[in-house]
Amino acid sequence: MTLPLNNSTRLDKLIFDNRFVQQLPADSEPNNYRRQVLKACYSHVLPANVTAPTVAAYSKEMAEQLGITEDDCKSEQFAKVFVGNEILAGMQPYAMCYGGHQFGHWAGQLGDGRAINLGEVVNTQKQRWVLQLKGAGPTPYSRSADGLAVLRSSVREFLCSEAMYHLGVPTTRALSLILTGEQVVRDMFYDGNPRAEPGAVVCRVAPSFVRFGSFQIFTARGEIDVLRQFVDFTIRTDFPHLVKDNGVLDKTVYIAWFEEVCKLTAEMIVHWQRVGFVHGVMNTDNMSILGLTIDYGPYGWLDNYDPDWTPNTTDAGERRYRYSQQPQIALWNLLQLANAIYPLVEQEEPFQQALAIYNQTFEQAWNNMMTDKLGLDTFNPETDSKLFSELLALLAEVETDMTIFYRSLALLDLENSLETLSDKQLLKPIQDAWYRLEALTEDYKSRFASWIRVYIIRLQKAGVKQIDKKQRMNAVNPKYILRNYLSQLAIDKAEQGDYSMVNELLELMRRPYDEQPEKQHYAVKRPEWARHKAGCSKLSCSS
Ligand code: AMP
Ligand code: MG
Repeated sequence: MTLPLNNSTRLDKLIFDNRFVQQLPADSEPNNYRRQVLKACYSHVLPANVTAPTVAAYSKEMAEQLGITEDDCKSEQFAKVFVGNEILAGMQPYAMCYGGHQFGHWAGQLGDGRAINLGEVVNTQKQRWVLQLKGAGPTPYSRSADGLAVLRSSVREFLCSEAMYHLGVPTTRALSLILTGEQVVRDMFYDGNPRAEPGAVVCRVAPSFVRFGSFQIFTARGEIDVLRQFVDFTIRTDFPHLVKDNGVLDKTVYIAWFEEVCKLTAEMIVHWQRVGFVHGVMNTDNMSILGLTIDYGPYGWLDNYDPDWTPNTTDAGERRYRYSQQPQIALWNLLQLANAIYPLVEQEEPFQQALAIYNQTFEQAWNNMMTDKLGLDTFNPETDSKLFSELLALLAEVETDMTIFYRSLALLDLENSLETLSDKQLLKPIQDAWYRLEALTEDYKSRFASWIRVYIIRLQKAGVKQIDKKQRMNAVNPKYILRNYLSQLAIDKAEQGDYSMVNELLELMRRPYDEQPEKQHYAVKRPEWARHKAGCSKLSCSS
């Protein structure tokens, strides 16, 4: 018996309108070999063919956005198209040229070394989504690498993109995770121990994959005409509300655009700080012009609240991209973007003002975020700045699970009169957040209890009701995050051909703010075995 579902040809009905390739200058060299690509925004390139594509997971929400049904996702054609074996009518595959600052140093041309854009889908709501395969073979930008991706890093990118989306963090999305049936050799910690790993391709989706580095490359090369063309294209396609009625793009529009990028970036970073996400590689080529989280590599989630933590072993010395430094690094990256756009404006002052707007936006959004996390009514600078800083210092002082802490804090009872409560009673609701209860000194406990007293008085004075507070807090403090060790367990299974946990985590992270009592075991503290294990607490750029 043949399965009718597998004969579906729904994917052929996707409508493409590829503005990027139609409106921007292309590389004239048709052959796919590594090179410097000058005076062009992209190169035409086809994905490599693979032997045995197997769909390990797909995002039904992303599929739906694109007009792809779940039945389509289960079809043979889906596996072929989103691994790169079949090109649909209307697709015009290409790799983008960009540069970037890596770890603070200008690195020259980088580009889509293992990403191939298939085209821009226009859905029934007239929204545009660029489809991009990651790991589908070499491009002119692959430099000395192979253009491939392993299952390990692909699971991480796939799951985290969708988890971030459901957490309400601006992000690129992921449609599918497909094994290629081929092996890829990687030396995970660059220590002379290469191993063959299963290869995989993730189909990423975003309104645009343009990065800060996409503009930097033209300025660095003195290709100002292309820079102008690209900036104009970006404003007209992704920031159309900034275009004046007469359609002219002038210096004031360029500055308004840069200001908006500053604001979007600030808001994204506040979300990262809210959920405890550490990107790990905030190079300027990994900064989206739309303020989306992009390029999930050696990222990680704070288990215990440690502002100095970075998951990226490649950055272990300097810790440039540690949790607490993300806001400043974003500003530094925006400064590099300002330098890239400068030739179109040739005035320093408006850029300085826009960067100041980044700081203001960040500060305001961060204060509001902390206000929400603590369930306060509105931010009161006179009392609350101190309340926040004292709390964060306490959390960092001993190993405290950030996620569990904020969820537990919502349980604190506001109705009881404070005089009748002992320190022990006050601390009880949050005690599960501490990793080692025996490490808490009496002095620490008493300082924490004092903080809780001040906090409760603050809420009581504002007339905040327990029930409102809990609801407000639980809407911004996730019960579930994509804990590093959970992803690693899912990867270990996937490498054995069992994709059940990948799909279980995808399901879990669809409702990260809901209690989901049957999934409580995913909300517990990181187990002791995961403390120093590769993939759980340390990751490298190898992917
Ligand atoms: P990332 O650190 O992942 O942001 O990558 C930095 C640059 O290296 C980008 O230009 C990537 O396209 C490129 N790159 C990373 N891994 C590979 C690979 N396996 N093959 C080709 N290019 C790669
Ligand atoms: Mg990158």
